[in-house]
Amino acid sequence: MNILFMGPPGAGKGTQAERIVEQFGIPHISTGDAFRLAMKEGTPLGVKAKEYVDQGLLVPDEITNGIVKERLALDDCKKGFLLDGFPRTLQQAEALDVMLAELGRGIDHVVNLKVDRSLLLARLTGRRICKTCGTTYHVLFNPPKVEGICDKDGGELYQRSDDTEEKVGTRLDEYSSKTAPLLDYYSGKGLLREVDGEKDIDVVTSEIAARLKGTL
Ligand SMILES: [Zn+2]
Repeated sequence: MNILFMGPPGAGKGTQAERIVEQFGIPHISTGDAFRLAMKEGTPLGVKAKEYVDQGLLVPDEITNGIVKERLALDDCKKGFLLDGFPRTLQQAEALDVMLAELGRGIDHVVNLKVDRSLLLARLTGRRICKTCGTTYHVLFNPPKVEGICDKDGGELYQRSDDTEEKVGTRLDEYSSKTAPLLDYYSGKGLLREVDGEKDIDVVTSEIAARLKGTL
């Protein structure tokens, strides 16, 4: 079974992906891992990618696509895979279709975890960190005993500048504007499986599994 996993930051995509690959016995392929592997093994594409990364430059699509293709061609993907973090653009989605066709494969399901923007904002802006010891809290899910104060050492808690509502809002907007065309693309092919990502974590896993098995 060949699966793509999509969902905005804060939707719990990583956790659900881990659970699904375990249940279905397929490898979890993230672009980050595929890059690290290619660079570590020094494949021609890995060497090229490293040149860009070392200079702090964005790796061009053709290299990224090639590295994903090399990864998907490995033996462990023969019985299927869960691809996470790719494609990010319509061009990459079209390239993925071409490369899978060359491997004699195709995508079976595109899972999209849906979580309301206000909940994503609450999840992503709630992190607080102790100035003294670096312990991480969350105002909703893991609050300190006294607001703004570290349980361990009484240190002051602060919010990272990346976690402010403004920054998180921009990240979420960028995500939705980039992925909207992708969702349309896969919906048009009848591959999109939308799952409510706001439910309890175990319920979400069961619903994804049921959609993949075609029982929901
Ligand atoms: Zn502390």
